[in-house]
Amino acid sequence: MAAPLDVAWAIAWLRLSAAVVAENRMALIELDRAIGDGDHGENLDRGFSAIVAKLDEESPATPGAALKMAAMTLMSKVGGAAGPLYGTAFLRAATAVGESATLDPAALAGALAAARDGVVARGKAESGDKTMVDAWTPAVDAAASAAAAGADGAAVLEAAAVAAEAGAVATDPLTARKGRASYLGERSAGHRDPGAASSALILRAAARAAAGEAA
Ligand code: ADP
Ligand code: MG
Repeated sequence: MAAPLDVAWAIAWLRLSAAVVAENRMALIELDRAIGDGDHGENLDRGFSAIVAKLDEESPATPGAALKMAAMTLMSKVGGAAGPLYGTAFLRAATAVGESATLDPAALAGALAAARDGVVARGKAESGDKTMVDAWTPAVDAAASAAAAGADGAAVLEAAAVAAEAGAVATDPLTARKGRASYLGERSAGHRDPGAASSALILRAAARAAAGEAA
């Protein structure tokens, strides 16, 4: 059953994200080994494990508080390019949702857009540069369309997750123009961008939490 997008959803999202990042740690390391320095899986696993440790100690009161805690933890624990980028994404989402107890579909779509805008403000990547933006932007567009068409929160997140997954796959043939992979030039083509892959995993976790799955 679809759950309301309340703090229990936000906590389940973060815990499910930690689980999928841990499960995909080696896969993300392999993707980053091919076109980067091989640390992406380890970096994100460290960050999400620290989020779970915090959730074991304290219960955030609102979705915004949970997202803000996640942002601060990712910024301090992840490092590399992805730490500040994910940290900014979660922080902008937290600011967008404010102190609301539950997110309606429009607020959810707005929070995803704010997260993506934060990544773009921080990293200056455009669509097609073979970065996590190539997962986030189709997700944001799909979420906005679904919300405008009257979908509930779970359906908005399902649409976002499907679009993010397609966006990550679509980075395969691209040549990287931002981040460490850009140093490889055309040799970066033929590999999936690790940050786009991890973004799709994290957005899929949000949809699973909204579909009522507990971590
Ligand atoms: P590092 O490149 O410092 O080792 P990570 O391996 O943790 O950091 O993260 C790499 C990912 O970060 C890339 O796959 C890409 O998705 C993302 N990334 C790097 N630079 C940018 C940028 N300028 N804008 C958006 N995303 C970026
Ligand atoms: Mg790396």
